[in-house]
Amino acid sequence: VQSDRRIYVIANWKMNKSLTETAEFFQEFKSSNDVSVVVCPPTQLLYPTQLFIKQSGKPVDLGGQNVHWADKGAYTGETSISMLKDVGCEYVIIGHSERRQYAHEDDVLVNKKVKQAIKAGLIPIICIGETLEEKNSMRTEQVLSTQLFGALKEIDSGDFIIAYEPVWAIGTGQSATADLAQQTHSYIRSVLKQIVGEKAENISILYGGSANESNAAEYSSMTDIDGVLVGGASLKAQSFDGIIKVF
Ligand code: PGA
Repeated sequence: VQSDRRIYVIANWKMNKSLTETAEFFQEFKSSNDVSVVVCPPTQLLYPTQLFIKQSGKPVDLGGQNVHWADKGAYTGETSISMLKDVGCEYVIIGHSERRQYAHEDDVLVNKKVKQAIKAGLIPIICIGETLEEKNSMRTEQVLSTQLFGALKEIDSGDFIIAYEPVWAIGTGQSATADLAQQTHSYIRSVLKQIVGEKAENISILYGGSANESNAAEYSSMTDIDGVLVGGASLKAQSFDGIIKVF
């Protein structure tokens, strides 16, 4: 890992945890390392999570799992970037593959959301990744490049994070090998260079997809892997701590 890039360990809780479980998590959580730790709970837990973080005294930042492209108005059921900011979010996950799959988000929509986040001063965690079918038909690089150019259209800021999350590795236990992830991250950085120039050197690129306590050390030793975005293994304070310790 390059020392001039920020290293992140980010929890994506997805649609999991009750209020009580969240309180318990922060009672157990140690967060003993100086990497940047971000927790992204479901929307209705954002504000209480912010209070639990403050109570715990740990240096943890808060992130949303999604945001709407408009800033306010008649959009029933949606959450805007100002609302996320209002409850203490500094980060927001955008374009997760589960949203691309189940909510049919495409690169145009992802781009709108990324722009909202950057404009509001939140750091978007932009998720990209190929499906198994795309991997098997050797289309990984093409897919990633399309997703990056799409998400970053008309953006010249370098204030974002990229999470490389191969769809076949998410929630499957079939994590990408550290070598494959490194190779792909290096490709992603080369595409970022085409888009934002030399700023690409300072952009954190995280790996996501069945990252856990056992494989985290391998990822952390790779030059272009600047942390991990963790789903399943972030739900228990102990295993999330285990990953943080390694980075
Ligand atoms: P996983 O999820 O760690 O459970 O594979 C990662 C993610 O989807 O962000």
